[in-house]
Amino acid sequence: MIQSKIIRPFVEINLAEHCNLTCALCDHYAPFLPEKYADIEATHGDLMALSTVLHTNHLLLLGGEPLLHPEFDEFCRMAKSVQISHQLVLVTNGILLHRMSSEAWQMIDGIRISRYPGVKISVKRKMLEAQARKYNVWIWESDVKMFDITESTAEITDQCLRNTIFTNCLMGHICNTIHDGRYYRCPPSVFIQTRLSKRGVELDNHKEDSVMIQNNSNLKAELEMLLFRSDPLEACRYCLGGLGRKEPHKMLNKKESQQIIGLPMEQEFNYSEIREDFVYCNATK
Ligand code: SF4
Ligand code: SF4
Repeated sequence: MIQSKIIRPFVEINLAEHCNLTCALCDHYAPFLPEKYADIEATHGDLMALSTVLHTNHLLLLGGEPLLHPEFDEFCRMAKSVQISHQLVLVTNGILLHRMSSEAWQMIDGIRISRYPGVKISVKRKMLEAQARKYNVWIWESDVKMFDITESTAEITDQCLRNTIFTNCLMGHICNTIHDGRYYRCPPSVFIQTRLSKRGVELDNHKEDSVMIQNNSNLKAELEMLLFRSDPLEACRYCLGGLGRKEPHKMLNKKESQQIIGLPMEQEFNYSEIREDFVYCNATK
């Protein structure tokens, strides 16, 4: 009975939080996170509870790099069995595509492949097309040469700017995340606490920016409050959403990632972090 449920376009699950690449501006923070995999049983419990009140168009299996998950097939089987989504979609950097079993190809409905400069996909184009035809899987490849900067270097204290970023934030309006038993409004709000803690800032945003999924008798009402709120999240205090400047893609080496991770926050927000083509007018001035 889908009609009475909350309908969402995209819901993400981070199958592996870490990645086999080190993109400097990864908004999932994967290059800086330790090896960690989504637990199949716990995620099954989350999806079962959610499926009573919510349906999504695409359930996105991503990360980090989702194909690093040692029980990828089992995870797909579980996710498919819950019937919470129209489609089960793999989002990958393509390095481990050769590992996909025929059973996984059968269960997946679509694959989004991000191609990064200098990175080779492990399956030849002809083979990929043949597999896609055989298993009726759509494939969407995109060349990612530029990244949006989402992490601000200081707290955004200008309330008008924070509202502007939030109300124009596509991610915050269409893409939710299931993580460690909670349902989050957007992907950055999951990891921003970890990001900031490494830079000496404490942000306790999980309670406000997400909803506990299992054993929650008020689940639907709490989800509606989270998903249809019009004021920014706690995480938005440090996030540029889709209005940050763009920078060319860069892969970090180990030394660079250590240097970046510990950079202290600035005292004041620098407005030049906002995209040049976005003309910001502070209505409260
Ligand atoms: S491949 Fe994707 S998940 Fe991995 S570091 Fe790059 S942007 Fe992040
Ligand atoms: S934290 Fe706020 S601005 Fe950043 S992606 Fe989420 S909703 Fe958008």
